[in-house]
Amino acid sequence: MDYKAELVGCFGRPVAENPTGVMQEAAFAAAGLNWRYLTIEVGPENLRDAVQGVRAFGMRGINLTIPHKVAVIEYLDELNEAARLIGAVNTVVNRNGWLVGDNTDGKGFLRGVRTDAGFDPRGKRAVMLGAGGAARAIGTELLLAGAADLLVVNRSVERGETTVGHLRKGTGGPLRFERWDGTFTVPADTDLLVNATSIGLFPNVEAMPDVSLDRAPAKLLVCDAVFNPAVTGLLKLARSKGMPVLDGLSMLVYQGVIGFELWTGQRAPEAVMKKALQEALGALP
Ligand code: NDP
Repeated sequence: MDYKAELVGCFGRPVAENPTGVMQEAAFAAAGLNWRYLTIEVGPENLRDAVQGVRAFGMRGINLTIPHKVAVIEYLDELNEAARLIGAVNTVVNRNGWLVGDNTDGKGFLRGVRTDAGFDPRGKRAVMLGAGGAARAIGTELLLAGAADLLVVNRSVERGETTVGHLRKGTGGPLRFERWDGTFTVPADTDLLVNATSIGLFPNVEAMPDVSLDRAPAKLLVCDAVFNPAVTGLLKLARSKGMPVLDGLSMLVYQGVIGFELWTGQRAPEAVMKKALQEALGALP
């Protein structure tokens, strides 16, 4: 009999409402693995010690959330390409004491776009609302996947231009910045629209990105990074126009699926993870 459990988890503050543990624990149970996912509140002043704890406990890996995604970098041994290009880490893999930082947010988004929406970004024209951490991750992966054009639309010019400069330096991809001032009309030749802002996030569920879809094509794929609520005002608007939509749950599930696979080396039970997450979020306000 082997009673030793393998450990993974998440460091963040606040972290109590982070639902990733529910889906990872469901996946471990379904795969018959004696693994645990611990959701741990860690403040910035303790991040260095907490990462040292990953080494001390032989934890197999860890997720990072607010406010640690950038700060953790100096405590790691190596960054992979995605983490380097995005400039932030949301997943660490412990390879025999050598901690490798990865970023699976953008890859999770892309996997959802391909798997759930059946959409290949190669050669397509994309518009992204927002220029924060999620936007950097999504923008990097869209450009690496061969998008023909990426228009970044952001309220703050400074943040928008910084992010576009960062994305251009990292990927060399075809992209532009436009200031978000008043209603932004999505151009007629757009194939993909993604909201990577926090507009519409609980508890401000009535808030809506100030965009017009009146000129957009009926086949426009409209995606939202916001996952609570799953059906945002933007997705409701797109649906009312008959456009295909992809919710933020998809991105959240697939970043977890990729994390499971990185840590365990096994194929993740995707359906189990999605169901567990939907149930967990259904229980949220
Ligand atoms: P950041 O704080 O880094 O960036 C927030 C972005 O939203 C900025 O571009 C900001 O613009 C914009 N924004 C916020 N409020 C407004 C507003 N009222 N009007 C216009 N623009 C606004 O956040 P993140 O990038 O980390 O997260 C963004 C969203 O993505 C969150 O809802 C988060 O929950 C979600 N997310 C989802 C994931 C998933 O797996 N589904 C994974 C990661 C994040 P400005 O620069 O002008 O301030």
